[in-house]
Amino acid sequence: MPEQLPVPLTLSDAHSVAIIGAGLSGLACGHQLAGQGVKVSLFDKARGAGGRMSSKRRPLATLDLGAQAFTVRHDRFANKVAEWQSAGCVATWPTSRYQASASGWQTHDDDQLRYTGTPRMSSITRHLADTLDALPNAAITLETHIIALNKTVAGWQLQDHHGTIHGPFDMVVISAPPPQANALLAEWEPTLAAACEANPQRGCWSAWVIFEQPLPPMAKVASAWHTVHAQHPVLRLASRNHTKPGREHQPESISLLAQLDWSDDHIESDSESVAQQLLEAFVSLLPGNTNLPNIIELGAHRWRYAQPAQAGNQSYLYSTRGLALCGDSFKGSRVEDAWLSGDELGRALTGRSF
Ligand SMILES: Cc1cc2nc3c(=O)[nH]c(=O)nc-3n(C[C@H](O)[C@H](O)[C@H](O)COP(=O)(O)OP(=O)(O)OC[C@H]3O[C@@H](n4cnc5c(N)ncnc54)[C@H](O)[C@@H]3O)c2cc1C
Repeated sequence: MPEQLPVPLTLSDAHSVAIIGAGLSGLACGHQLAGQGVKVSLFDKARGAGGRMSSKRRPLATLDLGAQAFTVRHDRFANKVAEWQSAGCVATWPTSRYQASASGWQTHDDDQLRYTGTPRMSSITRHLADTLDALPNAAITLETHIIALNKTVAGWQLQDHHGTIHGPFDMVVISAPPPQANALLAEWEPTLAAACEANPQRGCWSAWVIFEQPLPPMAKVASAWHTVHAQHPVLRLASRNHTKPGREHQPESISLLAQLDWSDDHIESDSESVAQQLLEAFVSLLPGNTNLPNIIELGAHRWRYAQPAQAGNQSYLYSTRGLALCGDSFKGSRVEDAWLSGDELGRALTGRSF
């Protein structure tokens, strides 16, 4: 990782910043900057804010396919999560955790409190996006894939996939995973590009299954179990969406997260066969006499850049040319790391400590 250089300029209400990526880190950074009067323009290629905290809305159920739950360790993040709880977009979950192997199911408690978005994981990023977009000095533009940066005498310009040019901006923050960030900055900033190249990402497949009826009860397992960590070569975690706060009215649906090694080996497979293999892995962990309810829907989503191959040792990076990077990849691989990274970059760029 490169050494941090002095901040190129301390941003104030005289400056404008483009943020690429409306995941948690980009939104956290946007709030810090806009709160200090900086003019913030946030862009995301997706239809909604959220990134890897997105939820998939189907007619019968809403499914979390990325982060299922998160932990809180840092005091500042704890205060933020308490704010989100008061705003009604976060609740504690899961409280009924199991682990499963060929030898059966056992409870899996570690006394660590976990949280999830309510009524879906993306409620957190939706709340942050709505409150940011409501500020007079901030704007979020969705469905806008930034494909190139250009440095002009007036500042940085962004080109999107329609050919539209945005800017100029005094600074560009990229909160996309390192391979996607690298594609934008490689020609402008070799030091940051090298940091991205040194931060390879691992893929992860997630599947979802919606059932007609609840899963049948299992001996010695709470009927309202929330998650099961699988000791299985294909499946890593199964989580029941309708046990999450605010989704009790939905039919039974489970999210199935694949093992990272298996995902890397199958990253180019087709989603139908991946969904089927993840379902078979889950079924193999149920007692032999279990009658699975009818399946209404089965599908899979590929996260090509799900998490860094190893934890980083920096929260964010920036260069004197007015480019900066944030996101979970430079700090860790968790929701908390993403929020801290964006929040700390926003504070650093406006000359505040954290
Ligand atoms: C399957 C899975 C399970 C997980 N489970 C957990 C868990 O249990 N607990 C936990 O704490 N964390 C978990 N995580 C990690 C957590 O989701 C991430 O740490 C966090 O969401 C990362 O946020 P971010 O803002 O850094 O990046 P992202 O959420 O990836 O945001 C980046 C954004 O940039 C956008 N973007 C990229 N390129 C461009 C471009 N060129 N133009 C415009 N927009 C662009 C993307 O659309 C995206 O919205 C999980 C992740 C996955 C994938």
